[in-house]
Amino acid sequence: MEGIRERLRRKMLLGLLKLKALSPEDMAEYARRNTLFHRSLYGDKRVSDFKQLPLVTKAMTRDASPYDRLSSELKNKVIWYAETTGSTGSPTPVFYTKQEFNGAYLLSLLSPYNAPLKAMLKENRTCLNGLALEFTIAGASFADMLVKNGGLVINAGSRSTIGPPTRIADAIVRLKPSIIAGAPLDFLCWMRIIKEDYPKEYDNVVDNLKILLSTAELCSDSRVAQIQKEFGIAHINTYACVEGFFTLTCPCKEKHILPAYYVELFDENLNLIGEYGKGRICITNLLKKSTPFVRYLLDDLVVISPSTCPYGFKKSVIPKGRYELSVKINDELYNVDCFEEIIFKYGLFGDYNLYLFDDRIELELEEYGKMCLEGLEEEFQRSFNLPTKIKIQNFGKLTAYRQVRVSKPILKLTDKRASSTQKIPDVL
Ligand SMILES: [Zn+2]
Repeated sequence: MEGIRERLRRKMLLGLLKLKALSPEDMAEYARRNTLFHRSLYGDKRVSDFKQLPLVTKAMTRDASPYDRLSSELKNKVIWYAETTGSTGSPTPVFYTKQEFNGAYLLSLLSPYNAPLKAMLKENRTCLNGLALEFTIAGASFADMLVKNGGLVINAGSRSTIGPPTRIADAIVRLKPSIIAGAPLDFLCWMRIIKEDYPKEYDNVVDNLKILLSTAELCSDSRVAQIQKEFGIAHINTYACVEGFFTLTCPCKEKHILPAYYVELFDENLNLIGEYGKGRICITNLLKKSTPFVRYLLDDLVVISPSTCPYGFKKSVIPKGRYELSVKINDELYNVDCFEEIIFKYGLFGDYNLYLFDDRIELELEEYGKMCLEGLEEEFQRSFNLPTKIKIQNFGKLTAYRQVRVSKPILKLTDKRASSTQKIPDVL
C-alpha cells in the first residue's frame, strides 16, 4: 500500500480538479460564446438547459473547419494541434494550450502507479516510446509524462518508415529500456522480432523490462493479464483518446473516470440512459477551454458503474469497443471486448478475427505465447448460444509484424449475417 504523502497528494489534486472544473452548463455556455462551431449549434441564446443541447457527433466535424472549434479567447495560446485517427474518415480536431498539454502529466500524478513508476525510473531511466507520434497526442503526452518522472526517452514512434518494427526491436536490444509505451499488438511484434533475430539477447531484454504502458487499442483485462504473465512485467493499459485523457487505470483493477469529465450514456436510439449502466458514451470535458468538448458522442459502447475503490475514486468504466461495430445476438448487444475477454482466458494470442454467422461463430487466432484451448469452444457456445470453430494461425498471418502497420487493428469482429447493423468505417 502507498504512503501517506501519496494519498494526501491525490486528495489535494482531486480537490483541485473539482474546484477548477466548470459545471456542464457553464462549459456549454463558454463553448457557445467562444467557438463558431458551438454558436451555430446552440444559437444566440444563453445555454439554460444542458439536457436539451444537441449531441456532437464525430461526423459533424466533417463540414467544419478545425478553427471553428478553437476558442477565440485562447487562439493565441494554443501550441499543439492533434486529430483523431478518424473512425468515420473525418478526424476530430483538438488544440492544446501549454497548460492543457501539461494536464496529462498532472492527471498521471493521480495514479497510484505513479510512485512505483518514478522509483523504478531511478534504477533504469531508459524508456522506449513506441506510440504513434503522427497527428495524435498520446505519443507526445506519454513522452512528456516519462521525462517529467525522470525518464530518458527514445521517441521511436510506430507508424513511420523511418522507425519500422525491425528497427524498434533493434533499439530495444541495444538500449534495454525498463519501460516501453506502445499499443499492445505493436509490443508483441517487437518482442517476437527480438526472439527471432536476437535469440541470445531476448532473456536479458525481458529481465530489464519492468512496465508496459499501453493505450490506443482496446485490450481486455484477460489480455492484459496474459501479457503480464508472458513477460513478467506490470502492464498498465490506459483508455484515453485525443479528445481527452479521461480515465485512470488503477491497481484495484478498474478504470476510473476522472472528475474533470461529465459522462452520459445513450441507448441505440440516442435516448439518454443516465450516468450509469451500459450504453454509448458521451463526454463533456469540464476543464478544456481551447477546444471545448460538450456532449461529444465518443461513441464507444461502455459499462459505467459506481466504484468503492480504496484509492478514493468514485466511478469506473469498462470499454467494450466502438458502438458502430457492435453486434446483436439474441437481443443482447455485444462488442469485441466480450469475445476478447473469453478468448484470452485460454492463452496469449497475437491478433484475431471473429466471424459471426447465423448458425455459427468462426474464430481465427494467431499463436503467440502459452495457450490451452480446451474448453474455449464450449465457453463460446455457452455464452453466445452458437457452435464455435477455432482455427489457429501462425503469428504473422494476420499481423505483418515486420512491416509498418498502416492502421489500427480495430476490425476484429465481423458480422456476416443478413441482420448485421455493423457500420465498417472507411478509414480505421
Ligand atoms: Zn481504483
